Amino acid sequence: MERLRELFDLVAHHGTTTAADIGTHIENSGIGADDFRLATTIALLQKLGDQPIDFEQFAAIVGDELLMVNRAFRRQLVIPDWQEFCSDIETVYRHVATDRSGSNADYIPILRDADPERWGVAVCSVDGQRMGLGDVDVYHSIQSVSKPLTYAFALDREGFDFTHQFVGMEPSGRPFNALDLLPDERPYNPCVNAGAIMMAGLVASGAPHLSDREITQVIMNLWAKLCGHVAPVHFSEETMLSERDTADNNFAIAYLLRGRCGLPRSVDLHKMMDVYLSCCSIEMTARMLSIAAATLANGGVCPITGEQVLPTDVVKKTLSVMQSAGMYDNAGVFTLEVGLPAKSGVAGAVMVVIPNLMGFATFSPRLDAYGNSVRGVSFCRQLVERFTFHMYDSISGGRTGCKRDPRASQHTRRQRDLTDLRWAVSHGDRYATKVRDLMLDCMISITLADGEIEASELATMAEAYAELMNEQPDPGALQQQAVACQQRAVQEGRHGATGAFEALVERLRRELPLLDDNSRELILEAAFRVSCADGEIEPEEDLQLRSIAEALAIHEGVLELEIARFQRQLPAPR
Ligand code: GLN
Repeated sequence: MERLRELFDLVAHHGTTTAADIGTHIENSGIGADDFRLATTIALLQKLGDQPIDFEQFAAIVGDELLMVNRAFRRQLVIPDWQEFCSDIETVYRHVATDRSGSNADYIPILRDADPERWGVAVCSVDGQRMGLGDVDVYHSIQSVSKPLTYAFALDREGFDFTHQFVGMEPSGRPFNALDLLPDERPYNPCVNAGAIMMAGLVASGAPHLSDREITQVIMNLWAKLCGHVAPVHFSEETMLSERDTADNNFAIAYLLRGRCGLPRSVDLHKMMDVYLSCCSIEMTARMLSIAAATLANGGVCPITGEQVLPTDVVKKTLSVMQSAGMYDNAGVFTLEVGLPAKSGVAGAVMVVIPNLMGFATFSPRLDAYGNSVRGVSFCRQLVERFTFHMYDSISGGRTGCKRDPRASQHTRRQRDLTDLRWAVSHGDRYATKVRDLMLDCMISITLADGEIEASELATMAEAYAELMNEQPDPGALQQQAVACQQRAVQEGRHGATGAFEALVERLRRELPLLDDNSRELILEAAFRVSCADGEIEPEEDLQLRSIAEALAIHEGVLELEIARFQRQLPAPR
């Protein structure tokens, strides 16, 4: 009973709450109303609306799904600070929205005429936490995003050996619609048109009793399961007809395949092409694709229905192919910069998988020279500059440049780092003392930057320091340190108000090799506290923070998230 009571107290005030409040609590964790693990509780809550709920009623409502309610309430989902994470995603989303470069695919009217301004980002964690921004419910043809799934379907049905008699697994380094084949005459991989056409042929050859449309329907059913049936999977007749009208290049590929390596089970070439083109004409939304990506990130188990949609082994192979070839002839650069399996389509979708963490999908029709959505790729890059999502971020030796890791609560981690620092300083640890001194230097140099240190500034600084280090500094000692700071700058030949600040930046640069992520973050935090002490970050302070971040090799995107976070905490202007 004790634990249940504690859980209740998280949502109750004076022994009572409302169903709506409990619902909001669940919603804030990112879990959707249709989540299979909480569906009963959420349905009950919705029926009760604003009614007051006491402890006994609470126990009865959540009893059936207690474990999950507990996890949602106690922030024990894979991304604990979900609301914070959503706000960070929004910061990146807005950033990318200003990019209007690239242009729509124009080989068929429906893509040429699509609104180029559309911009949507949807995220789904492997725990089923979901969010969407902008045009995430706009249906668009999935085009090449269909390719990895057709491959997964073929692997599942036909097995690895037979499937790979007809397709390779090498990145092609060539445009997606190139007529190139491997020296052994197989297509390079399932993500370029030649490979995808072959996979469509393989799937068609395995279902001789079904028409091309019936086969497409089976694949659409698989997509529906992958995205947890949150919305219907559509088919665009218009896209299909235009695709067929403009498919000369794809037909050339098909004939080449038949002429060179032969088609699986001598399947009819037109049936193969119709399956390929109709898979391209399947319509989904970014929200749906983000859940499909999360299912892949979760080893084939859909996070919101719990269904094993694809065997884990098939998912592993599919992700490997997406990793090496999903972004066409830009796949190498993408792997280097973003380091995640992804698949794009010419309608403007990009679907990205962060294994064991989440899937996301973007939608924006303007494409770059490779046929990838400009904003989609830019979003991926910016995300990975700010978060430890690149697959090799895990071998950074604690030096990622302070990228965020949403798998851990940032607040809890920072508190822990601070507690550790205070403790180590109190025992005379050399490293910790250096970090503490650099923190103090930052605070002093920022305060000095406008000339003399006034008494009020000294007080503000002392307060910020006390908050961080949990000890009241001696004002006299602080004053002395400030003077020492100024003198040091003068000794180094730096004069004037900015001298001390320049000396600080120089010192940070020098010390950088010794500082791990935790220490850099604490130093930036110290600088941040004094800059924000008066409730705003003035342009001058903004520049100073940027210089400090730069000297500490903290990416400016990370600083921007921090600034946006600070601004969210400010009271709204009246
Ligand atoms: N329908 C397009 C084609 O076959 C799909 C290509 C793509 O999305 N890159 O050319």
